[in-house]
Amino acid sequence: MKIDFYEIPAEGLALTVEDAHWFPPDLERLGRAEASLRLKRRGQRVVVTGILSATVVLACDRCLGTFQLPLDSEFSIELELPAEGVSEVEEKDHFCHDNEMDVDILDSSEINITDLLQQQLYLAMPMKKLCSEECRGMCSRCGANLNHEKCRCQPDNSSPFSVLARLKG
Ligand SMILES: [Zn+2]
Ligand SMILES: [Zn+2]
Repeated sequence: MKIDFYEIPAEGLALTVEDAHWFPPDLERLGRAEASLRLKRRGQRVVVTGILSATVVLACDRCLGTFQLPLDSEFSIELELPAEGVSEVEEKDHFCHDNEMDVDILDSSEINITDLLQQQLYLAMPMKKLCSEECRGMCSRCGANLNHEKCRCQPDNSSPFSVLARLKG
């Protein structure tokens, strides 16, 4: 889905994306993936504010089990259309962000809404993907998922604590 910079009316443009075609193909989702956006021109820039909501199916970093992560993310970014005659040298700085605000430089007057939403979704995902804060993970020796099953490893009888436990019993 693309919007042309010059077609954004002075009063701004509101968009509602109800179908999930923008959802990144390398991620799994559950149910709907929706977004609503507002685009407003400000000189050579477009201010994009919006909200996206989707439930992503992820694999836990600790136990490798899959889990659902509902995301509701609000975002606000600025896109800048370089004035005509910008040299190719300057174009190298595409992904350099302004200090105060996220400003992306547009390649052309075309704004790719699909790319924009995919980027925002990735940004909304946590660095560490855990099925729960209390995830007990996986035994590094037998591979048991400790959330659902007991470790199959032999108890270590040489531990002083197990000796103590036996004396008590
Ligand atoms: Zn887990
Ligand atoms: Zn084990």
